[in-house]
Amino acid sequence: MVGGGQLARMTHEAGIPLGLRFKLLSDTPQDSAAQVVSEVVVGDYRDLDTLRDFARGCDVITFDHEHVPTEHLRALEADGIPVRPGPDALVHAQDKGVMRARLTEIGAPCPRHRIVADPADAAAFADEVGGFPVILKTVRGGYDGKGVWVVRSEADAAEPFRAGVPVLAEEKVDFARELAANIVRSPHGQAVAYPVVESIQVDGVCDTVIAPAPGLDEHLAGEAQQLALRIAAELGVVGHLAVELFETRDGRILVNELAMRPHNSGHWTQDGAITSQFANHVRAVLDLPLGDPRPRAAWTVMCNVLGGDYPDMYQGYLHCMARDPQLKIHMYGKDVKPGRKVGHVNTYGDDLADVRERARHAADYLRGTITE
Ligand code: ADP
Repeated sequence: MVGGGQLARMTHEAGIPLGLRFKLLSDTPQDSAAQVVSEVVVGDYRDLDTLRDFARGCDVITFDHEHVPTEHLRALEADGIPVRPGPDALVHAQDKGVMRARLTEIGAPCPRHRIVADPADAAAFADEVGGFPVILKTVRGGYDGKGVWVVRSEADAAEPFRAGVPVLAEEKVDFARELAANIVRSPHGQAVAYPVVESIQVDGVCDTVIAPAPGLDEHLAGEAQQLALRIAAELGVVGHLAVELFETRDGRILVNELAMRPHNSGHWTQDGAITSQFANHVRAVLDLPLGDPRPRAAWTVMCNVLGGDYPDMYQGYLHCMARDPQLKIHMYGKDVKPGRKVGHVNTYGDDLADVRERARHAADYLRGTITE
């Protein structure tokens, strides 16, 4: 697996029961997954020679992030190493401009959008969609809301162009909430769809995920799952695909973006589904039969644990575990910095309000924003 973050750590964990040998290319020996994987190569995934050396002897390569240059992935394939997802699929998770163009081509519902050349062009786009505010995004390199701007005037639009990366303009969708349709697809074409979830963001960072999305119209949920399956088939995705969606106030869904790897909106599946996203990602990458994606409980809630006042969150375990025996804590081994995602908790049950309260309480307690 290329990339040493928490997604690699949890994918590795899912491979242990299968007795897989898991090799990691990590930026540093301290990265989340590098702390737990036995076979770690420390190196730069942007360097083709490093990637090639790393890939030698691997049966298949997969990713913790989407930043490996497309041409490097093609070179690995030319060397005879299966890359899953492959470069032709992955480019749609790397480049928001390519993603929007392709989704529009296959008729997937998207916000109105176009590439804009400069602030004046962004203002012209705003006129086309009914005026400011509009959203500007650099087509590459964004994450957790970085690389996304809400722009209220032409003067406001200068910043996104400074990076020298093409800029995509989108209408600002007045959404009721954000959803995610997560599916897993294997090379032989088998696919499974998880229940559609609601994802609540705070300051551009995922905060809470509720599975399934409360009150979501059954037909709209089915439509979202079908859409994700169709996107995966059209783009040739292998592994886990997260389709981030907006649910509009008039009951439609629009695609926000795609992630072709395990995703934060799927962390609930570790404890809330029969087969987790990590286990199914591993199975897909190895072309094994996929596991049952159905939920184990009526409701599962995931809350991210962000860095707060405590450098070591272990001190909160006693209280949290004693308070909620259903609670599952997943920490990533990262240094605690304010606002940084350092772990998550999952809990489940029959009463949504109660499950939400328990997950929220544990995340806040571990972080130190509450003390009782
Ligand atoms: P990232 O690559 O950081 O995940 P996204 O494209 O998902 O970037 O955007 C981050 C957040 O910005 C979204 O979760 C959503 O809240 C908001 N956002 C993005 N695009 C739009 C849009 N077209 N209309 C309204 N809000 C948007």
